Amino acid sequence: MAGEARTTVGFDALGTDNRISAYGPPARHAIDAAVGRVRQIEREMSAFLPGSDVSRIGDAAGRGPVPVSGDTLSVLEEACRVSRLSDGAFDATARPLSRLWESCRSDARVPTADEVERARGLVGWGDLALDGGAGTAGLARAGQAVDLGGIAKGYAADEVARELRAHGVEHAIADLGGNVIAVGARPDGAPWRVGIQNPAAPTGTYVATIGIQDETVVTSGVNERFVVLGSRRYHHVIDPRTGWPSESGLLSLTLVGPCSMTADALATALLVMGLERGVDLARSEGLRLVAITTAGDVLSTFPLE
Ligand code: ADP
Ligand code: MG
Repeated sequence: MAGEARTTVGFDALGTDNRISAYGPPARHAIDAAVGRVRQIEREMSAFLPGSDVSRIGDAAGRGPVPVSGDTLSVLEEACRVSRLSDGAFDATARPLSRLWESCRSDARVPTADEVERARGLVGWGDLALDGGAGTAGLARAGQAVDLGGIAKGYAADEVARELRAHGVEHAIADLGGNVIAVGARPDGAPWRVGIQNPAAPTGTYVATIGIQDETVVTSGVNERFVVLGSRRYHHVIDPRTGWPSESGLLSLTLVGPCSMTADALATALLVMGLERGVDLARSEGLRLVAITTAGDVLSTFPLE
């Protein structure tokens, strides 16, 4: 219905800025429920909250499985599936490496080769045992930890869309720190338009815009969180094979498709894998792709406007 009122709410969660806009009378209630859902997912999956499922799995590593929520189990299952599909470019147990690089970024130093090797030796998604029946997850070796930082926002985006629909919303758009998801089309029937940031230009400068309806657009980029030390830039997506920030010739990778959780994990995976193997993987998962290379080229598997 044209002329319906829009409600927009911005909030901090999952370590990022989030925004939900929804149309029509149910919007206010629906958004409140969706925000509550995101906060619940954060309490379950944050690596930074001591009592979260993710923290408890790490605390118990090497000592057996711990009970986790149905949410956490679903995300861990998808994280393992993408770990396998990507041959470990995305690794559900990347936390020892991401933790090392996080602390080095905040201390403005490069880790030693020893530190990198020690962390790398603890990463291996094959050591993560999930038991859907018992509702538990466990890691084989002490010092191991799971990392859902590259997938949980996608799951949260899917859940936001589900919650909005369940409350009767027919037109909405949500942005969870770079994971955009649409409910329906715009109230006037046109597709929602999502800009793809030019990583080399100020925020709000787009290389293209994508029209979506009931779909998600997820971008993972190397220009989001990084530190510059000497002449090098160290960013937050780590190649588990080397233990160093990925160097696949990509500045940003955007995936478009039905499931934000899958798109989120695969966007992180493809940033590590590079395009050569990445394009086929995206296609086999039913995702469209836009990549921006370090040379500044924009490549896509579909026509861009
Ligand atoms: P953002 O969080 O900036 O949207 P991503 O979805 O690419 O970007 O997720 C990056 C996060 O994923 C890192 O902060 C870290 O927690 C985690 N991570 C980094 N490298 C890997 C990897 N190779 N496999 C799985 N998770 C990773
Ligand atoms: Mg991701």
